[in-house]
This record gives sequence, structure tokens and C-alpha cells, in this order.
Amino acid sequence: MDVMNQNNGWLYKILLNDKIYIGSTRNPKERKKCHLRRCISNNYKHIKLYKNWTKTSKFEFIILDYFENISDYELTKKESERIIYYDSIKNGLNSKNSFLSEEEDLKQRREAGKRYREKHNKKVCQVLKKNRLEHKKNSSFRCDLCNFNFGCKRDLDRHLNTKRHQNKFSL
Ligand SMILES: [Zn+2]
Repeated sequence: MDVMNQNNGWLYKILLNDKIYIGSTRNPKERKKCHLRRCISNNYKHIKLYKNWTKTSKFEFIILDYFENISDYELTKKESERIIYYDSIKNGLNSKNSFLSEEEDLKQRREAGKRYREKHNKKVCQVLKKNRLEHKKNSSFRCDLCNFNFGCKRDLDRHLNTKRHQNKFSL
């Protein structure tokens, strides 16, 4: 097995708590490490495979097939054949678009980010609304002549004594 040749491909299965996950890779050693890192991380719990991992899980990484000079398309096809054979979407740990798992993963994280921002924005809007209402309440401290609002009576009184206001008043 020539690990350095990027044209070669592997199919593997992961047994996690006796459930099956099917994957393909150009570099099984790195791929295994990557899966293990993600198992431990909290950032991937939205993915079935990683959600099923716990500290006491038995994790086995088993090579199923090796192909020399195989295209991405062919490798993906072989992978999806295996997924169908093991029925590992319904009965195992593969997600719907398992061969797009990297893209899918990125998409899901983007959506989670969007949801967070929306929630955050809603909060900001509520605060702004509250501020506006407060401001409206305070705008009774207002000089209509100069078209100024003041936060409190003291500020309004101070304004009424300024030259700027008095000049307008005397017009
Ligand atoms: Zn004024």
C-alpha cells in the first residue's frame, strides 16, 4: 500500500459501539486520526458518527478495500455502494450525504452560526426597542423651538439658559 500516492484510495469501515460507518480516503492513517479527533471534540456532535461516541466507546477502524489509481468519482461510487450494502445510513452511522461529509459538515456549521447570529440580533433589537421607548418617554424634556431632546429636566433647563436658545427665543 502506497500511502504517499494521492491517486490511490481506500474504503474503510468504523465500528463504533458495534454500529457501522463507511468512509473513503486517500490517506487512511490521517483519516483515522481525524475521526478520533472529531470524536473527542465538541464541535461535531451534530454529526451522527460523532454523536454516538462516548468516552467508553469501542472505536475500530478497519480497511475494507484498496484501489490503485482510482478517480474521486469512482471512489465515491464504491463508497456509496458499500453504504447501500451495509445499509449504514438507516442502520448505521452514515449521514445522508456521507460522501459529501466535509461539505455537509461545513454547511451545518455555517447554519448553526447563522442561527446564533439571528438569535443574537433578536436580542439586540429588543434592547434597541427598549432604548427607543425610554427615549420617547424622556422626550418630554424637549425644546420644540430648537428641535432638541434632553434626557432629563436638568439638561433641558440648562439648554433654556444658553445663548443659542435665548437668541432663537428673541427672534
Ligand atoms: Zn431651545
